[in-house]
Amino acid sequence: MGELFDYHMHTYLCGHAVGSAEEYVLAAIQGGLVEVGFAEHIPMYWLPPAQRDPTIAMPEESFEGYVRTVLDLRDAYPEITVRLGVEADYVPGHEDRLEAILAPYPWDYVYGSVHYVDGWGFDNPAYKHRYMEWQIETLYERYFALMIDAAQTGIFDVLGHLDVIKKWGHRPASPPTELYRTVALELAKCGVPVEVNSAGYRRACAELYPGPELLVELLAAGVPFTLGSDAHMPKDVGRDLDAAVRQLRAAGCESLVQFDERRRSVVPLPGA
Ligand SMILES: [Zn+2]
Ligand SMILES: [Zn+2]
Repeated sequence: MGELFDYHMHTYLCGHAVGSAEEYVLAAIQGGLVEVGFAEHIPMYWLPPAQRDPTIAMPEESFEGYVRTVLDLRDAYPEITVRLGVEADYVPGHEDRLEAILAPYPWDYVYGSVHYVDGWGFDNPAYKHRYMEWQIETLYERYFALMIDAAQTGIFDVLGHLDVIKKWGHRPASPPTELYRTVALELAKCGVPVEVNSAGYRRACAELYPGPELLVELLAAGVPFTLGSDAHMPKDVGRDLDAAVRQLRAAGCESLVQFDERRRSVVPLPGA
């Protein structure tokens, strides 16, 4: 049996999380995790600097210090494996800028996440009301098309919170099985792993990202999985990942993937 790890931790740098990177590593050690990684929000590279919101992502001048801090923690706490990652927004048309901002650093993994549909930050509580402007089926199609595009860029090592579009509980009248099947087959073709993200349990949607219907399709298509809590405070490191693993096992999943310098290895599903 493998052991629990958590690849999705933020820090105070993004402006809406609390705690230093060191506090997250200490919480992980205390929680008995064997491996953790940071996936801090990448600077808002697709916007002119004056339009970037310091409560959404770290400013570009903090980026190098973030990397340095994580690498220093790796040396300071040899009792746990500390991975250097980043959560990069996928914004169509800005791929070259993204690759340029990623290039100088020794990432273990780069998350691809979609937090914007046509410039609308749907997962931000301040803009939640704009769901009413959409037909939900259409919104889901638009959102998942962006996730497929993200996978096809080849820039990302893992896709973050794959169905976060459901965050506030907006759902099609019935599960969009055909859409989920298409998503699963397209992601399987690209070979990009999907994060199983336990933060969904504590949102209005009240279920794992990805939810049960999507999870089944991903497993059937052979898409690999990794694990993240999306912790925005040290006490949430590893939170509910045991429940996520139980759900994965019940769905027939037997392994996960881990990353080392953007190379992937398959590990057994942790005991839970
Ligand atoms: Zn965040
Ligand atoms: Zn995210």
